[in-house]
Amino acid sequence: MNRATLVRAALWGLLKRCPKCGEGKIFQGWFALVPRCPRCGLVFEREEGYWTGAMAINIGVTELVFVIALVAGLVLTWPAPPVAWLLAVTIAINALFPVVFYPFSKTIWISIDLALHALDERESAPGA
Ligand SMILES: [Zn+2]
Repeated sequence: MNRATLVRAALWGLLKRCPKCGEGKIFQGWFALVPRCPRCGLVFEREEGYWTGAMAINIGVTELVFVIALVAGLVLTWPAPPVAWLLAVTIAINALFPVVFYPFSKTIWISIDLALHALDERESAPGA
């Protein structure tokens, strides 16, 4: 993959689109990713245990958002931070953010995986 293709794949991954062709209709509802891209035929789950990378991305980004919210809350309200309010907000972030971010973590993971592991022909043949 050349640099422009990598940047485009990463952008499409961030936008919840197929990282290979940019197709937007790859989810049925919020959670269910279709097995293959309807436009380019890319197989999304390339091997058993494939989504472990997406889970790691989801956990990592959630904890990053949590830390940013906690530090921002502490800095903005210092020297008397409202502990109960901060606790409620940060618990809500840890409960809700991974649900909202779930499909994005999958398409981001697919784009990272495409950058690291080249496709073989049977993985991207339309209608195969
Ligand atoms: Zn596609």
